[in-house]
Amino acid sequence: MKMLEKVEENQTEIVKEYVNRLYKKVQQRNPNEMEFQQAVKEVLDSLVPVLVKKPIYMKQAVLERLIEPERLISFRVPWVDDKGKVQVNRGYRVQFSNAIGPYKGGLRFHPSVNASIIKFLGFEQILKNSLTGQPIGGGKGGSDFDPKGKSDLEIMRFCQSFMTELSRHIGADIDVPAGDIGVGAREIGYMFGQYKKLRGAFEAGVLTGKGIGYGGSLGRKEATGYGTVYFVEEMLKSQGLSFKGSTVVVSGSGNVSIYAIEKAIQFGAKVVACSDSCGYVFDVNGINLETVKRLKEVENKRISEYVNDHPEAIYQEGCSGIWAIPCDIALPCATQNEVNKEAAEMLVSNGVKAVGEGANMPSTQEAVDTFMEHHVLFAPAKAANAGGVAVSALEMAQNSARLAWTLEEVDAKLQGIMKEIYNKSLKASVDYDAPGNLVVGANIAGFVKVADAMIEQGVI
Ligand code: NDP
Repeated sequence: MKMLEKVEENQTEIVKEYVNRLYKKVQQRNPNEMEFQQAVKEVLDSLVPVLVKKPIYMKQAVLERLIEPERLISFRVPWVDDKGKVQVNRGYRVQFSNAIGPYKGGLRFHPSVNASIIKFLGFEQILKNSLTGQPIGGGKGGSDFDPKGKSDLEIMRFCQSFMTELSRHIGADIDVPAGDIGVGAREIGYMFGQYKKLRGAFEAGVLTGKGIGYGGSLGRKEATGYGTVYFVEEMLKSQGLSFKGSTVVVSGSGNVSIYAIEKAIQFGAKVVACSDSCGYVFDVNGINLETVKRLKEVENKRISEYVNDHPEAIYQEGCSGIWAIPCDIALPCATQNEVNKEAAEMLVSNGVKAVGEGANMPSTQEAVDTFMEHHVLFAPAKAANAGGVAVSALEMAQNSARLAWTLEEVDAKLQGIMKEIYNKSLKASVDYDAPGNLVVGANIAGFVKVADAMIEQGVI
């Protein structure tokens, strides 16, 4: 027995060295791409136990292949603003892995978009999509275009120009983009229209997140936020806890946040705060979701205006202060690295019991470590926010079959998928000696399916 343990210890050391070498190579090859490096590091570290048990993944250089995108496309997006001036933005699409299905992942329009952001999101997407159990590979795209303050016509002209180039690289069986920050149903509509015109064909399956009237799926808009809450509820249940009667803080007030708030309220929680990129509101009576929906989905206004309708609420400039509000459950649903070590420590000292990541990589590594050290239940983005892409895959299935499911059917499937992702992640964490560590569990469960497919398909 002692002998066996010794062999395993040696093997673990060998794998750790291998993983460190690989990470150094990633740093050298992708200098200044901090977000991409961060995402890869987390995955590499958590895969050590699976590489120890299944050395074939090392022999077949699965990780070396997986961390290098199949292709990264960068392109010029020229468009004319309302003053008649020509503007030029940069567009991206990363096609990371199609080992288990066509590349799939959203498009982000935000001034912070660069190759690092797109690659981190695309890399995360490979494992997330695998976790959903749906046949979809990993991709992501976007532009440094800032939709804020642009007129509807400017948005349309930008989307059309963006799609003019992107259309060469996508297709229902090739690569299927969707929305993300700054890209909602309006932008998807303009891009779909341009794609249709360029192709001269109605190929519904080329984009997801479409309007319901022309091939969109009921429940897609709600899927990421609802899915996050379904996942966190499963995690809470395992400890005899629940959203019911809990106090919740949700960052952001975009697509993911709004529907996370909605489901948390439906589950009996009181959501006391939400935010946008300028500041946050705290409403001791519970956030009034109708007001947030009107401000954000209809009027395109700042969250600061919430207090006009609810004078008892407090508005604070700046985003980080939201994590100082005492809560049982925190759902970061805005953007990457919004929860740092300091924020995590504040949450812990205020007695947070669970954190569920609705946004992609919203917690820094130090924040995740802080939650783990203090035994806070932690639902990582890859697993917890996979509901959006899962329902996107259901949209693709409906488009292929030329039919439309009811909201109840889609929601039931979403609930089933989130439960399954939770169970898979938990099981992998137990199988690989990190019981309850869902970061490790989700990474391993997502990875094994993709890695096996890559081996079966040969070195390509
Ligand atoms: P939206 O554009 O609809 O909303 C983003 C929200 O986050 C807005 O309230 C925005 O405020 C706020 N925000 C943006 N940047 C910052 C910042 N630096 N600090 C604080 N708040 C900020 O995007 P989504 O809701 O679609 O996406 C949110 C997150 O969820 C992203 O990480 C995305 O990748 C992830 N995600 C989204 C999915 C989807 O289906 N939409 C699927 C899976 C993950 P403001 O309006 O002021 O910019």
